[in-house]
Amino acid sequence: MSSVTTGKGSLSSHLWDTSDLYRNAVMQLSEAASVMKLDPNIAERLKVPKRALIVSVPIRCDDGTIRVFEGYRVQHNMTLGPGKGGIRFHHEVNLSEVAGLAMLMTFKCSLVGLPLGGAKGGIRVDPSQLSRQEHQALMRRYTTEINMIIGPDKDIPAPDVGTDSQHMAWMMDTYSQERGFAIPGVVTGKPVEIGGSLGRNESTGRGVVYTIQHAAKYLAAKGKPAPKIDSSTTVAIHGFGKVGAVAALELYQLGCKVVAVSDVSGGIYNKNGLNIPHALEYINRNRTLEGYNEAERISNEELLALQVDVLAPCAIDGVITEKNVHTVKAQILAEGANGPITTEALKALEDRGAFIIPDVLCNAGGVIVSYFEWVQGLQNFFWSEREVNAKLAEVMENAFKKVVDIRDSYNCGMKTAALIAGVDRLDKAMRLRGLFP
Ligand code: NDP
Repeated sequence: MSSVTTGKGSLSSHLWDTSDLYRNAVMQLSEAASVMKLDPNIAERLKVPKRALIVSVPIRCDDGTIRVFEGYRVQHNMTLGPGKGGIRFHHEVNLSEVAGLAMLMTFKCSLVGLPLGGAKGGIRVDPSQLSRQEHQALMRRYTTEINMIIGPDKDIPAPDVGTDSQHMAWMMDTYSQERGFAIPGVVTGKPVEIGGSLGRNESTGRGVVYTIQHAAKYLAAKGKPAPKIDSSTTVAIHGFGKVGAVAALELYQLGCKVVAVSDVSGGIYNKNGLNIPHALEYINRNRTLEGYNEAERISNEELLALQVDVLAPCAIDGVITEKNVHTVKAQILAEGANGPITTEALKALEDRGAFIIPDVLCNAGGVIVSYFEWVQGLQNFFWSEREVNAKLAEVMENAFKKVVDIRDSYNCGMKTAALIAGVDRLDKAMRLRGLFP
């Protein structure tokens, strides 16, 4: 258990560290802190969030009954600017997981050079069991409950697992109704019609693919075996949602053989490459891959163990652990999801020479274009999709270069290098601002 050292002793952080995701984030921070010789006072401050709000969210369900859900918003660190982070609807969400995700957001925003801090939110609910009307009621009431800590200058939510641009539209509308005028800057990931950015929906998956391309080039330049990211490259993608589906389509369009994709119901597999546009059409119609019979069915565990060049876990955290890491054969692992590989599994993968693209770098495309959306909204001046994509590619390339340079100079793993890149900027900013009062 991590602890915060105070002048009078040690204050237990039992409130936060009940989830594997949070514990992994702290372990990775500690590893980075030790490699970069971070001032322990800064490290201790970064191990715990700045602020958290737990709310009860009552809604009237379609059958007339009232159900009460638990919601959270955690702001981990806001030294660099307003909090930024998605809102997750998932039946296993809890305070500790949201705190861990908020911490990752802090490091991600800092790593890619954004003037934003780290935050995250969530509601403990199985979104597949709610009607559209119930989703709307839940999002609107949650917005009202966390109203006092969000805002365009305070903390700006976005979509995450189980939520999408429609949820952001309801959130923006609720927040605006309470103030009497439209405030699009309170959320990002909104529909374009109400101030969203072109290219935001695709940005995370697109960024995942940029990092895979950079990884292949970097490995080739080092004389290491590297896929070419063309028709000779095989890819498996775990999670076929907002991140995984876009990554799959982009890789398919680059000519790669995307041999497997999956959702909660399991995976689909074709050793010659799946027809991704067809699978997407199917999932848009049926919401699930279940029943898709144009390819072989495999389990999620089988997908993770496929002999492929690139494996992109793009679903949830804790997917590759000590228990199954020995089955994973991919050469490049792209963490499209947040925290899909545990610290122990990461070490085992690196020990056998696999190349990891860490989450805070790999899936940063989403927050980068969220930032572009926020900036465009504040200026009321909107960019073309070509401009958005070009700027995204530039920021991702610089971030990738920063991380591999640190990896090479410290001779450490990619995860540690990415955290060092994020923590180093924060460290300087926290010192300059000092400790209040
Ligand atoms: P979505 O809800 O859109 O998609 C999640 C996908 O993962 C769905 O296909 C879902 O299947 C599948 N999935 C969920 N649980 C499991 C499981 N246990 N086994 C296999 N598949 C599973 O979420 P996103 O794509 O938005 O997010 C995915 C990850 O990426 C998360 O970790 C998120 O935090 C991270 N991320 C997302 C960003 C974004 O812009 N959306 C930005 C940065 C990070 P089903 O549909 O059947 O439930």
